[in-house]
Amino acid sequence: RTLVRFRDVSKVYTGGSKRAPRVVNAVDTVTLDITKGEIFAVIGYSGAGKSTLVRLINGLEPISSGSLEVAGSRVDGKSETQLAPIRRKIGMIFQQFNLFNSRTVAGNIEYPLKRAGWKPEERNQRVTELLAFVGLTDRAKNYPEQLSGGQKQRVGIARALASNPELLLADESTSALDPETTQEVLGLLRRVNRELGITIVLITHEMDVVRSIADRVAVMDSGRVVEVGTTSDVFAYP
Ligand code: ADP
Ligand code: ADP
Repeated sequence: RTLVRFRDVSKVYTGGSKRAPRVVNAVDTVTLDITKGEIFAVIGYSGAGKSTLVRLINGLEPISSGSLEVAGSRVDGKSETQLAPIRRKIGMIFQQFNLFNSRTVAGNIEYPLKRAGWKPEERNQRVTELLAFVGLTDRAKNYPEQLSGGQKQRVGIARALASNPELLLADESTSALDPETTQEVLGLLRRVNRELGITIVLITHEMDVVRSIADRVAVMDSGRVVEVGTTSDVFAYP
């Protein structure tokens, strides 16, 4: 039932110079279980370590110590080649959408399927399905610059879902959107969770986002998880 398992995980960034070394404990001895099927939010101020925590999950950054398991596989100590099958189980969406401006909506959604070696007719069928799911069938041939922010994020979500991931990582995915569009995108993420059964880990600095969508929440501060529980427990009014 546990999909992501952190055990005493730390991530230390070292930098600066020999005379003035800089060491940042971006993630500091975190122990945490994320359960299959839930919407799990990570909240905290800027610099708290939220992005780092999520980048560790798909192996974009190696952990410095501890152990980390995703969908039954250890992520720590793996090479890029060994990480590939784990990463195929993970989709990711971003604050700035990260779409290819030179590709159409359909082209953006198709991109990961091309990379994964899907045949053209299979890709077309999957893209058609995804466009319908996110409500952008009539926008297939448009370019990102012709879309609103909410529509761009729907393309981002469709692209992240293309190869049927088990886990969707959302890094400040509504922070560039106005409140109304935020609710629209959160509604879509709720459908991704309920209808497709995909576990979602969502990073945000916005309490309202957590309240409106998350089953459970972890509060981060200076690299540590200082509180974790159901959203109603953690944000209960005293
Ligand atoms: P958040 O997502 O909560 O804003 P981050 O995970 O981005 O926090 O950053 C946590 C800490 O790690 C910050 O002090 C940040 O400056 C530092 N940090 C993040 N990425 C790097 C990096 N690549 N190199 C050095 N320090 C980093
Ligand atoms: P195709 O075979 O569909 O043309 P390519 O792998 O040749 O796809 O990439 C096409 C374009 O997309 C190139 O300009 C490349 O720089 C860009 N690109 C590929 N992968 C990434 C990525 N992960 N992030 C940003 N740009 C990328």
